[in-house]
Amino acid sequence: MNRIGCHLSTSKGLHKTIEQCLKINADTFQFFPRNPRGSKSRLIPKKEIEDFLELRNIYNINDIVCHGAYTMNLCSDREDLRELAIRLINEDMKKIHDMNIDKYVIHPGSHKEQGIEKGLDLIIRGLNQIDVSNGQQICIETMSGKGTEVGSDLEEVAFIVNNTKIPLYVCIDTCHLFSSGVRLETSDEYLDEFDKLIGIDKIKVIHCNDSMMPYGANKDRHEKFGKGLIGESKLLNVIFSNRLKGRSIILETPNDLNGYKMEIEEIRGKFNELRNNK
Ligand SMILES: [Zn+2]
Repeated sequence: MNRIGCHLSTSKGLHKTIEQCLKINADTFQFFPRNPRGSKSRLIPKKEIEDFLELRNIYNINDIVCHGAYTMNLCSDREDLRELAIRLINEDMKKIHDMNIDKYVIHPGSHKEQGIEKGLDLIIRGLNQIDVSNGQQICIETMSGKGTEVGSDLEEVAFIVNNTKIPLYVCIDTCHLFSSGVRLETSDEYLDEFDKLIGIDKIKVIHCNDSMMPYGANKDRHEKFGKGLIGESKLLNVIFSNRLKGRSIILETPNDLNGYKMEIEEIRGKFNELRNNK
């Protein structure tokens, strides 16, 4: 099945994440390379990175996803903040290269009151200044559409991916899809549209979150797997779609480590059930 894991803290050290993965039976995970609500970033000692790389190899924890800070806004109405976002992403690109990680998820941004066209233009201009020459894969995330957030509409995501000069990829988030008004009774309709506008191969990461907020509410509140308004069967439609084989599934549900362990076990169990019923 797809690799599965959750968002983990690196506050006790990058190498400690591997121990955590083993505890919860995850074979991948996601983390923030810097304070998610600020711009500060810890200088990770070389030894810590070496330990991390060694443990990753031994235990086969791979397709790890790095998530950029929430505060970065490539389409801010302030030039200094746009430049800060570009600088931080470029710094993160170097960091993840040292960690032998290629997937980097970012939120496209919020255009404030500048309008969607200006927002899209600024995002593309910003992304064009990112150095991905070491093969890093930037994945823009599909958003719920709160406030002036860009990326809740598939056409906006397509416009960014198809007009940026660097290769660009996509992270789909089930909670964000649902709250932005995507029906998940079957994932095929959405994936057909995605394939037509962007190409299904561009999807590299799946954020698997249930939603506290109702369908189409344009609000981003994650709920535990199967405990929210999306529900288990619709979540499974997306994450186990045959067309999304091989993508890392990352849980960003409100859980402690033990809660994640239970969710991962449950999802693995469902996968085996579905496979045996075929
Ligand atoms: Zn995100």
